[in-house]
Amino acid sequence: MSHSTKNSHLSTTVANLKPSGIRRFFDLAANMDNVISLGVGEPDFVTPWNVIEASYHSLEQGYTAYTANAGMIELRQEISNYLKHRYFVDYNPDNQVIVTVGASQGIDLALRALINPGEEVIVIEPGFVSYAPAVTLAGGDPIIINTKPEHEFKLQPEQIEDAISEKTKAIILCSPNNPTGSVLTKEELIKIAAVIEKHDLIVLSDEIYAELTYDEDFTSFAFIKGMKERTILISGFSKAFAMTGWRLGYATGPREIIEAMVKIHQYTMMCAPTMAQHGALEALKNGQKSVLDMKKSYRQRRNFVVNSLKEMGLDCHLPGGAFYVFPSIKSTGLSSEEFAEQLLRKERVAVVPGNVFGSTGEGYIRCSYAASLKQLDEAMKRIKKFINEL
Ligand code: PMP
Repeated sequence: MSHSTKNSHLSTTVANLKPSGIRRFFDLAANMDNVISLGVGEPDFVTPWNVIEASYHSLEQGYTAYTANAGMIELRQEISNYLKHRYFVDYNPDNQVIVTVGASQGIDLALRALINPGEEVIVIEPGFVSYAPAVTLAGGDPIIINTKPEHEFKLQPEQIEDAISEKTKAIILCSPNNPTGSVLTKEELIKIAAVIEKHDLIVLSDEIYAELTYDEDFTSFAFIKGMKERTILISGFSKAFAMTGWRLGYATGPREIIEAMVKIHQYTMMCAPTMAQHGALEALKNGQKSVLDMKKSYRQRRNFVVNSLKEMGLDCHLPGGAFYVFPSIKSTGLSSEEFAEQLLRKERVAVVPGNVFGSTGEGYIRCSYAASLKQLDEAMKRIKKFINEL
């Protein structure tokens, strides 16, 4: 008798998950020479030296063991101070802060702590590629809201009304947004908050790009009146402090939810890496100058890239934050995938087709400007040549 009559040993949920569309382009680009990549979603800067040094010293001093499950108390205290002084939201480091393995783990833990099988979570697209799969893996059903180019891909409050059912539990917000760079203003957040309150939703507010806004001050969703009680603020060190490889983030929120997240975390992860926690502590204590320097550089690059794309005749809104521009390539008559693939093959510039961020991203491409001005200048020349030769 055969051991199994099944075709696959995998869980149906996992077998049905589609692999991320971003990877395919990196695999293609990896086999080519002389490629300029505007594809990756991470800073081109190396982590500030004082952060590296602090982590190094912690190892030298023998801090190589586990920390508390929720993270080192000194770091939780520093996160709490930082959020209070920078964004005016106050969390108790003892039970309202958890240190996670990147913002990614914060999203995963929050969803697993909240969702019963079959409950719905509203996901906004174009958006970060991990949200919908993370909802599915937590046993929930992602309900997609498609934002519109005429709104610079910003969520409109009435769209939430249309997406809500009796099964809706939560909504994931992300501002500044990946891939569009759009930033929700305080006034816009207040209008969204009114609908959220009315329908008694929990909010996962992904604020990983909070430090990277170029035209106006960032407002945390938890700062909006009445929202702190229903918001899990998710953030981390990857983007602002150029620490993607350190895998360090945090989540703050209502005590009951954070404690539930710590419970899952202690069984599945124990704690975030200790040496990375020591680095993060230094980043928060003495890292603001480096953040501002990087931010200044991103702003300059953003302006250069948006102007260059516009000069080529591509329609492109000025993104207020993160390090992405999201121009329309509809005028070329190519699909997003065709554009990205042909641009890579002919001119060796890697961008990400907009459709990988949701169907509403079709007709757009994501270009990351986390690259040097020299590289960006060369990339813009190549894109111009590509378009002119179409
Ligand atoms: N949220 C968004 C919107 C992102 O763009 C990213 C990284 N691309 C993450 C979360 C994950 O960040 P981390 O490295 O902290 O896990």
